[in-house]
Amino acid sequence: MNHTARKRFGQNFLHDMHIIHAIIQAINPQPDDIVVEIGPGLGALTKPLSGCLKHLHVIEIDRDIIEYLQNQPFADKLTIHSGDVLKFDFAQIRGIKKIVGNLPYNISTPLLFHLAHYANEISEMHFMLQKEVVERMCATPSNKHYGRLSVALQYFFAMEKMIDVPPAAFEPAPKVDSAVVRMITDIGRIGVAHNFNHFSQVLTQSFAMRRKTIHNNLKGLADDDDLLAVGISPSCRPENITPEQFVALSNYLVEKI
Ligand code: SAM
Repeated sequence: MNHTARKRFGQNFLHDMHIIHAIIQAINPQPDDIVVEIGPGLGALTKPLSGCLKHLHVIEIDRDIIEYLQNQPFADKLTIHSGDVLKFDFAQIRGIKKIVGNLPYNISTPLLFHLAHYANEISEMHFMLQKEVVERMCATPSNKHYGRLSVALQYFFAMEKMIDVPPAAFEPAPKVDSAVVRMITDIGRIGVAHNFNHFSQVLTQSFAMRRKTIHNNLKGLADDDDLLAVGISPSCRPENITPEQFVALSNYLVEKI
């Protein structure tokens, strides 16, 4: 197909067969798995995936690409959901086992938060993302990449960087390095927040100014006694606080209200 990649849809098409094979191996699709692919594009992953599966759901926003997919030999294996994945209700597909995709990088953070709403209904996800985003997702305390995204996602998922992917693996080549991340749903691994909205507010406020102490960032939400009650030194920086401590702090504050 003579398709000009559309920047507004984050279109960078994979063409490196070695990388494509490594991604399919990491996903390890089994014939009966219910799998959803986000952004199938010209089918770099869709074709080999559909070869392993009885059926595959795909979500695509670009109408020209949808028309192209409808005319491919593997089209009879596909259910094509046309539209914006950020508005897609994943609950409409029963028994989702895996969600996969080489994601449009321009919407990756809102998309990861959208998917977190459905964590209970998804077993695992494999995504190609900007490498720097994958490093932030997987980061542990005291690492320079550790922040709100790390804690917010680690609340729901165990995550692991699987494959580094250079720009040359795509057409057109993006300006940044990429990586594939595996996300396995594991709610409760860092504790259970009694009020999730409050926990999110604690995270947002804690990391508002990374260079400031937690005492400064949490002014109005927690005082030094609250911090000390859950073992957090008021003079430490947010990047030194563990995910478990953020959950404990939120629960402690919610109890007090
Ligand atoms: N999977 C293909 C590959 O690996 O070559 C294409 C990946 S390309 C990085 C991202 C794909 O997501 C494109 O097909 C693009 O049209 C689609 N896309 C972009 N924004 C989207 C959105 N909001 N909802 C659904 N699909 C979107």
